[in-house]
Amino acid sequence: MPQLVFLIILLSFQNIFTKEINLFTTRHYDSDLQLYEDFTKETGIKVNVISGKSKPLEKRIIEEGKSCIGDLFFLADAGRLVSAEKKGLFIKIKSQSIEQKVPENFRSPYWVGITKRARIIYYNPKETKLDEIKNLSYEDLSSIKFKNSIAIRQSNNVYNQSLVASLIENNGIDFTKQWLKKFVKNFSRNPTGNDRAQILSVAAGESKFAIANTYYYALMASGKKGEDQKKASKKVKPLFPNQLDRGTHMNISGIGILKHSPNKANTKKFIEFLLTPKAQKHIVNNTYEYPMIETVTPSKLIQKMGNNFKQDNSSKVSTYGKWQKEAFKLMRKAGWN
Ligand code: FE
Repeated sequence: MPQLVFLIILLSFQNIFTKEINLFTTRHYDSDLQLYEDFTKETGIKVNVISGKSKPLEKRIIEEGKSCIGDLFFLADAGRLVSAEKKGLFIKIKSQSIEQKVPENFRSPYWVGITKRARIIYYNPKETKLDEIKNLSYEDLSSIKFKNSIAIRQSNNVYNQSLVASLIENNGIDFTKQWLKKFVKNFSRNPTGNDRAQILSVAAGESKFAIANTYYYALMASGKKGEDQKKASKKVKPLFPNQLDRGTHMNISGIGILKHSPNKANTKKFIEFLLTPKAQKHIVNNTYEYPMIETVTPSKLIQKMGNNFKQDNSSKVSTYGKWQKEAFKLMRKAGWN
């Protein structure tokens, strides 16, 4: 009997001293798991990963309330972060080092961008000369001269909702409503597939333009998605649009600390780790996203796509969250399936 009591005491002590964090994440990269192992090696803090899609995870966090084991919520779109913020899921992150490293437009008091993504245009240089399109803005894509030429995924895709949200922020609701009507008429096909499928459509000669995030193209060019996709990527060129001199639409993958986090003391350490040069290098070389911190350069494949484009920093990415619902409504109304 005394041994049993001793064992129980020992176990409960172990529980207190086990350093861990529970990470809710919508990111689906195996390379992220390697990174978390590095964090554990450095700090002794174990990272338990709970992955899923954003809406079910968000729902779980809300429903479980105070008993939710989640410490951090890692999401792949600024609008999703704002949604979690508005629902009161996060607490404020106070860290000078984070504030110094992450530009203001890529964070809020409640979440912080860890990587950046550019959503750009792709074309086939055999069909379209760069001279004809080099000054193309997102706004120009509604021009009647591009009828039946654009491949883009469905309106339920959050990256598209953020892109349209940025158009609302920059041009207003009425403009965007009219723009969408004409833009949808320019689709080369009924929206289907992921971002890579759009690029493949251009490579196959089915569409004149595709819209997709840069890391999908780099992934194809890397050969990790097979020889066929690598070959297809060579037939297609990226074009970084200027939103009427504002630059290319940028989105983020970012993270926030959950309000009822049981391991709060470890959460800031984890975020700060993700923003170290070592971690940022690991991410950009594996997922082909853009680094958040200035001292790290993008992967070679991404640099090859274009090194001198202007990233839109005219407005905070949190404005995507502000307009995302309105954007989706207008997209559906315009007949974007
Ligand atoms: Fe993605």
